[in-house]
Amino acid sequence: MPGIIDFNHKKKQKHGNCLTGPCSHCRREIQYDLNEYVTFIKIFKMLFFPHNVTYRSECPICGFGNDISEKQFKDLKFLAELNSALKNGEISAKQYDQYRAKNDCIDKFAKVIT
Ligand SMILES: [Zn+2]
Repeated sequence: MPGIIDFNHKKKQKHGNCLTGPCSHCRREIQYDLNEYVTFIKIFKMLFFPHNVTYRSECPICGFGNDISEKQFKDLKFLAELNSALKNGEISAKQYDQYRAKNDCIDKFAKVIT
């Protein structure tokens, strides 16, 4: 019977928006979504055993994206949290620039990922 055991059940977790730039697929100016995909073994309707985690930065419009490493994910998650704090008025634009300057590795990743 199909569907009793699913070895490839993926759950997507969104971590906000990270890098800004033109999507290399649809060419629109976007802020990439930072997503984490956890693959579970699902038996009947219960999830067991997360056995794989992948990280991606994806275009919110066309879905095109890139696989990124866990290290890149952690740095971009920091950027996503900064973007969110700025958007919600929790930090000023000046504070945003200061935090961002301290983490210049993010801008190096931007060249690789987008
Ligand atoms: Zn796109």
